[in-house]
Amino acid sequence: MLKTAQEAIVEAGKSLGLTDDKLARFLKPQHVLKHTIELNSGKKLKAYRIEHNNSRGPYKGGIRFHPDVDLDEVQALATLMSIKTAVANIPMGGGKGGVEVNPRELSELELEEISRKFVQAFVDNLGPQKDVPAPDVNTNAQIMDWMVDEYSKLTGDRTKASFTGKSLENGGSKGREAATGYGGYMVLDTIFSSSMKESGQIKLAVQGFGNVGSNFAIKSLENHPEWKLVAVSDSSATIVNESGFDVNELIEYKKAKGRFKDYKTDDVKVIATEKIIEEDADVLVLAALDGAVDESNYESVKATTILELANGPVTGEAEKKLTEKNINVIPDVLANSGGVIVSYLEWRQNLSGEQWSLDEVNNKLNSIIRSASEGVFSLSKKHSISLKQAAFRIALERLNVA
Ligand code: GLU
Repeated sequence: MLKTAQEAIVEAGKSLGLTDDKLARFLKPQHVLKHTIELNSGKKLKAYRIEHNNSRGPYKGGIRFHPDVDLDEVQALATLMSIKTAVANIPMGGGKGGVEVNPRELSELELEEISRKFVQAFVDNLGPQKDVPAPDVNTNAQIMDWMVDEYSKLTGDRTKASFTGKSLENGGSKGREAATGYGGYMVLDTIFSSSMKESGQIKLAVQGFGNVGSNFAIKSLENHPEWKLVAVSDSSATIVNESGFDVNELIEYKKAKGRFKDYKTDDVKVIATEKIIEEDADVLVLAALDGAVDESNYESVKATTILELANGPVTGEAEKKLTEKNINVIPDVLANSGGVIVSYLEWRQNLSGEQWSLDEVNNKLNSIIRSASEGVFSLSKKHSISLKQAAFRIALERLNVA
């Protein structure tokens, strides 16, 4: 993952005439923080925070709890956050954190202990004007609430602007939870209107139906009732319905802890989870984990557009091959930037002591993400390059690497 992220940066940098030296300096994270968290039970866990670049503002990016977390992955994700915040053109930098752990094996008390100990370990580097973490894979508002509480206890800071993605009762922003999914819809819609694509009866296939995938689907069908959600997957199965699913019904099903492999109704086909990639849809939305489309399966993609709502769901090699086949890959650094954009809006509300209405937040998100999408689209047309390369070039220019 780190190699892929760095290669994309080097490719964009070369086309801008950047020297190897300048690129190497940019690629190197500004701070690599490591710590071993020792739980009361005696369990030891590796924790990381990588602060990649703060030339545009405080380091910004999530903290994930996952067994695959390692230094390489955290560095890749931190680097991509520097690109993402620059593409969105918000005054924040890039960072990422992680704990190598499987949260399913933890009690609620242990989760809280890890969250608080993470903050104790890195407190000197964190803060509203220094480094502002947020949720990522397997972390949520509750974990941010514990973290911000620990930070306030240790430093006396009362702004709550040291973490974003908090609960509404605890300084969170309206619209933050749905922001990544909503933003993904806004990006897709902008790219479609810019390319004057006849949007007619678009068929959507959505991999991953958690917070991001389901909010994307809600917003898409609310704005375009003529679009159809024809396939959707979770980790147990893909379900297919050519006449289109009722999104709210699927959300209710998931809320009741249903697994798609048990979803049985007359007109619905249940197939293997990974088969979603091959579904006959116009847009394939990847909202699960990284590496979902790689060199081994990219050839079976039938969609003409891929929206990367997870971080890194299409590998670097697959992205190149898909672009050659004229499949539009809308890159993660643009497609899923709704989350960090509303995080930035949350941070601003905390610093100014304001609380904005949902409409105000969504309108601001809409204007920031649409102008980012238009910029990426028009540069890609101007130079006949992929959306990903266009996004990376814009980011490197804004980051003043040149
Ligand atoms: N974890 C999210 C991301 O990868 C959000 C980061 C943030 O809100 O700071 O973009």
